Amino acid sequence: MSGPRAGVPLIEAEDVAMHFRVGSALSALVGGRPALVRAVDGVSLTLMRGESVGLLGESGCGKTTMGRLLLRLLRPSAGRIRFDGEDIAALSGAGLRRFRARAQMIFQNPFEALNPRFTIAAALAEPLENAGIPRAEWAGRIERAMELVRLPDPGQFLARRPHQLSGGQLQRVVMARALLLDPDFVVADEPVSMLDVSVRAGVLNVFREVRARLGLTAIYISHDLALVRYVCERTVVMYLGRVVEDGPTEAMIEDPLHPYTRALVAAVPTPDPDQSHAPLPIGRGAPDARNPPSGCRFRDRCPLAHDRCAAEAPRPTRIGARTVYCHLHG
Ligand code: SF4
Repeated sequence: MSGPRAGVPLIEAEDVAMHFRVGSALSALVGGRPALVRAVDGVSLTLMRGESVGLLGESGCGKTTMGRLLLRLLRPSAGRIRFDGEDIAALSGAGLRRFRARAQMIFQNPFEALNPRFTIAAALAEPLENAGIPRAEWAGRIERAMELVRLPDPGQFLARRPHQLSGGQLQRVVMARALLLDPDFVVADEPVSMLDVSVRAGVLNVFREVRARLGLTAIYISHDLALVRYVCERTVVMYLGRVVEDGPTEAMIEDPLHPYTRALVAAVPTPDPDQSHAPLPIGRGAPDARNPPSGCRFRDRCPLAHDRCAAEAPRPTRIGARTVYCHLHG
């Protein structure tokens, strides 16, 4: 994004945590205590206006929870999130409605995101009605949003129900729905993971185009570094509820600093042998989030772990435009 407001933070998350209590009814009956899952545990993140940031990590790393916290779909257990300077936890009434319009989610599963009983027209009218947009504006807004996601002939789609559209068309409708209220910020949660491989590139291209055309600030949540590389200039890598590395995507791929990032980068196929990295043997599957290791949470899987890693959680070290959380660097 260029222009007078670029370089100004839109989102500022400070030391945000989200802890869930989990426990089965059976364990409660026998006097067992519910376990505490620290899904997000002390994440600080600033997004400048117009920035596109990938939240990357394995399943269970906290990336989807973080996305939901930024949209106030969840309330954090600790920490603060500011949107355009305002604490989103303090919003209510008209202020909250304005925030809801400006900050939108593109859901992972287009087959679940739309009510199967609604026509596409009804699905698109619903957020406009809820936001109190005058009915006279609906057709114009729907037409513009459909054109943005490259479904330029809305008449073809509006009377149909979700099952009458292909997965790719449906995900574009979900994207159009998120654009109807002219948001500044979108969180896209693995938006192509449920789609056939053959249509993923088309949907990703639409996402990229729309973001650039509207100057949107975006979070793209994924476990796939290749997809994040395609749509985001900056990447934040998460592991077991914490950030482990944050920086420009290309620099991170060329020279990953954190051992976990190194393992993720090594898993991405590259045609250029100079760009490939020796794989790190980290094994599969993150440890139990209810009982994370002391010190560095990655230490159980890190082949470079040493004594300090068990005793002390790494603090952020700034290296150029990058931030890394690892004792090897600070
Ligand atoms: Fe590995 Fe230690 Fe760095 Fe953690 S702090 S990533 S265990 S070297």
